Amino acid sequence: MSKKFFNKIEDILMMPFRKHFLFLISFFFLATGPFFLWQFFYQHLPINGFFLTVHCFIISYVVTLLVGLIKPDVVRKVVQYILMAISAISFAINFYCIFELGYLLDADLAMLMLGTDLNETREFASVMLPKWMIPTVLGIFLVFIALWRLSQRHNMNLGKKASWVAMAGLCLCIAINVRAWPVWEEGPIHRIYEMTQYEVTEDLTPYYTHPRITFIDDAQLPSDVVLIIGESFARCHSSLYGYDKETNPELKALRDSAMLFTFDSIDSPAPTTAESIRLMLSTYSQADDESPSGDKKWFEYTTIIELMQDCGYDSYWFGNQARGSKKNGATRVFAEACRQQKFLQHEGADRYNVTTDMVLVDSSLQYIRQAKPGERHFIIYHMMGSHFDYAMRYPQEFAHFSEKDYASQPQGHRATLASYDNSILYNDHVVSQIMNLYRDKDAVVIYVPDHGQVMYRNPQRPDYFSHGNKKSALSYALGVEIPLFIYASPMYQERHPAIMERIRSHASTPTTWNSDDLPYLIMDLIGARQVGQEDIQSQSLLK
Ligand SMILES: [Zn+2]
Repeated sequence: MSKKFFNKIEDILMMPFRKHFLFLISFFFLATGPFFLWQFFYQHLPINGFFLTVHCFIISYVVTLLVGLIKPDVVRKVVQYILMAISAISFAINFYCIFELGYLLDADLAMLMLGTDLNETREFASVMLPKWMIPTVLGIFLVFIALWRLSQRHNMNLGKKASWVAMAGLCLCIAINVRAWPVWEEGPIHRIYEMTQYEVTEDLTPYYTHPRITFIDDAQLPSDVVLIIGESFARCHSSLYGYDKETNPELKALRDSAMLFTFDSIDSPAPTTAESIRLMLSTYSQADDESPSGDKKWFEYTTIIELMQDCGYDSYWFGNQARGSKKNGATRVFAEACRQQKFLQHEGADRYNVTTDMVLVDSSLQYIRQAKPGERHFIIYHMMGSHFDYAMRYPQEFAHFSEKDYASQPQGHRATLASYDNSILYNDHVVSQIMNLYRDKDAVVIYVPDHGQVMYRNPQRPDYFSHGNKKSALSYALGVEIPLFIYASPMYQERHPAIMERIRSHASTPTTWNSDDLPYLIMDLIGARQVGQEDIQSQSLLK
């Protein structure tokens, strides 16, 4: 009895090796392969790559085992074919993402892909799809098809001995994986989990609550309130914060003429775009994120767009990032809450079909010129900023820094550092141009990026430069360090002396603050005292 039972268990556990070995290998390579290949070939992190390979092998074994248990055989075969087709598609997409975009398919990118229209996709593919890519991917598929054909004539499963060796290998993998468990966060299961975590709405307006807003007695509303949302700006790469390369000359000139104020010790609420924007543009906060009060979703909180509209401001969104999906969960719903919105990416594009940020200045000019006396405007600019690929974010005349300027840095980092700093330099130009558009108005302009970048500063991962990782305290801290600038026009400075005094005193002393509370800063700058039950000044940067 016990021998029979043991044999049965052995049959089941060995089944992936003895009956479905080709499926196991194909799934391992096509479905999970991009996750570890990315670590080896793009991130150059062989240890991470090794742990992920182990992790992915276990996943592939479990999937093969579960699918192998499906009865009858014909249903099992259909499931296997479907899984293979999905694996092949995901392999092709991830292969493209790794080699062309530098990262794996994630929730943001998936939402972006679902949201772009066919025309955009076609343009994008024709310009961005390297010629070698299609034959390479097809070649890889052909190898698997050939193996599959071969398996119909020859047994390609493992024999009794070999399968025991494979089982020993699997046990070793499990032992290794238990020790290096955090690596699962970069693996396929976690990626799927993240993609299911999106809580979305297509429209914010049904959730408006119109809280009562009270103002300081003698408050006088400025005519123009401008919010520039930057992208991937690591504070330590700004010469305004002590960086040794002159990356912010034009903003420095504005600061020298006492129109621009820079604030130190500011963090963004998240190291990634969508999450950060959700938190920055609404009263929804990190605390709500971590311990949801009841079932209240992020889109049920009051947004800064609603508040400004309630204060009589006409709202306009100029975006140079892709429009994204209605189900994107962030940027697009905020943009569409504005009375008007313009998405400029892909308009006037260069050879990469990428529109550099100067388009924001040009297209908002007309709107500003049409403004009538007595009107109030709340204008949001959403920049492409220093979004990866950095080298695609600036025109050639801003290619000021080159590899030779980074001789003290490791060889492999120099080109990336140079293109990153060039993108910051171009950002400096665009942001100061936007500020200058409002010079003759009673205007206040806030510049704040969605998050920073790690830029090789994490000793635990010395070759990593991209977004901070939420699960590593150090990586997270580096990824959320951001600059924050407030531009006050001469007229604003003259008309709002009390606020100016607070701006000046805070600009000279580092203030720990999280841009999560951005709505309170904006309301503070227009002279609001209270929104609903909430006190403005105590949550503002200028507290
Ligand atoms: Zn971002």
